[in-house]
Formats: sequence, C-alpha cells, structure tokens
Amino acid sequence: MGHLIMTNLYFACTDCKIYIDAGYSWASWTLEEADVVKRGARVSVEAVLAAEDYWNPPRAESSAWLYNGVLPSVHRFLETHREHSIIFATITEFLSTGDEGFLDWMQVGFMPQLLPRYFVERLGFKSWDQVCNFVAENGSTPWWWMLDWENVHDKAVKKFQQAVESKVAG
Ligand SMILES: [Zn+2]
Repeated sequence: MGHLIMTNLYFACTDCKIYIDAGYSWASWTLEEADVVKRGARVSVEAVLAAEDYWNPPRAESSAWLYNGVLPSVHRFLETHREHSIIFATITEFLSTGDEGFLDWMQVGFMPQLLPRYFVERLGFKSWDQVCNFVAENGSTPWWWMLDWENVHDKAVKKFQQAVESKVAG
C-alpha cells in the first residue's frame, strides 16, 4: 500500500478491529529495532508507553507529523485498548484485502483510510447520502469507492448500514 520501499506499520486491536498508523520508519527504528515490539506479534502496552525514544522525536519541522498527528493518537489508542489484544504489524498481517473482511475494520488516528465504520463511529453519519457528500467535498475518495470487483461498494454500503443500526441499538 505504501509508495516507498519502507512498509507502513500499524498498531491493530484484533478485538475491536481498529488499527492506527504507528509512525512509519520512526516506529521501526525506535520500537522494532529497539526490541520493544516484534512485527506481527502482540505488544506490551506498558513497554511501548515506556519507550522514551519513540515518544520524543527531535523537535523539528520534519517531525511535526509525529508530534501533532501520530503520537497523540497512538497514545490514546494504547490507553483505550490497553486490556485488548494489540499487535504491531504491516497491514497484510491483520487485514486481508482479498476478501471483504477489510470492511469490518476501522482505521483511526493519523490520515486514516476511510472505511464504513469510520463514517458512523467517528463522523456520526446516519445516511449514505452524508457519506457521498463527504467524499465529494473532501476530494479524497476511498480506494475501494470505485472498485468494480466483488461488489465492494455495495458491501460497504451494507456494512455502513449495519454500523448505523448497531449504534442506534447500542
Ligand atoms: Zn480494542
């Protein structure tokens, strides 16, 4: 999915099916190479929270995306899912795009992929029209939006409606 050779890395809660950008090569250097986490394995939240290097990138403009985007959202994510099963992984290690299982997942945090649950659980949308308007105005069309393959668009609409119903019921 990434356009560089370096692979995108995520924290993924396999209980809630929610994932978040871990900070790309910064996470690789300060967590993986420091043996705080292992790729594809469950993480110790305590160990990650205690990894000083990860939370304190050099104060420079080039690390503003970490300070302002990635790190605060990852911190909230780890606190929220502290008692759950969280893995550190590339996207293909927890989310298969070969079936519509990816529609069960939601990305949060820094520059999230727009998936059906996000529209309901984060943006509070109740109708698919709201989603369509948002996508049109936003100019960032989700990668699956125009997908002909396997009626993905219809399945996304259905997933969205299920999420709306379960929110109303819950
Ligand atoms: Zn969770």
